[in-house]
Amino acid sequence: MECVFCQIVAGKLPSDIIYQDDEVIAFRDINPQSPTHVLIIPRKHIASLAELAEGEASLMGHMVNIANQLATKEGVAQNGYRLVVNCGQEGGQLVPHLHLHLLGGRQLSGTMG
Ligand code: 5GP
Ligand code: ZN
Repeated sequence: MECVFCQIVAGKLPSDIIYQDDEVIAFRDINPQSPTHVLIIPRKHIASLAELAEGEASLMGHMVNIANQLATKEGVAQNGYRLVVNCGQEGGQLVPHLHLHLLGGRQLSGTMG
């Protein structure tokens, strides 16, 4: 079975895509944890943050830039927002394709796990 986020990249699985370019796509989380909950993912299948090669650091930087731009677009930049990457089982990662969560639109809890 193909990775669920690769299926979204390929357009085989519907999703609410709000941004795309040659390297990344961003779409709304199917089970939002806050009024704004967007996932920013690379088009390329990278299983987790731990699998990011040294030479791919700029890809992560690009994902953060896009997240910042989308935070502004979504109207959460002024009040604040949170970017999260879960990595591996104990990091709470459920989908094995690198993704950045953009959360905002309410006061987020102070817990860090
Ligand atoms: P993780 O726990 O791996 O960091 O987060 C995976 C996220 O992907 C979860 O917030 C979950 O709701 C979201 N998700 C899982 N499957 C789908 C899907 O098919 N479509 C969308 N839009 N989001 C998904
Ligand atoms: Zn994938």
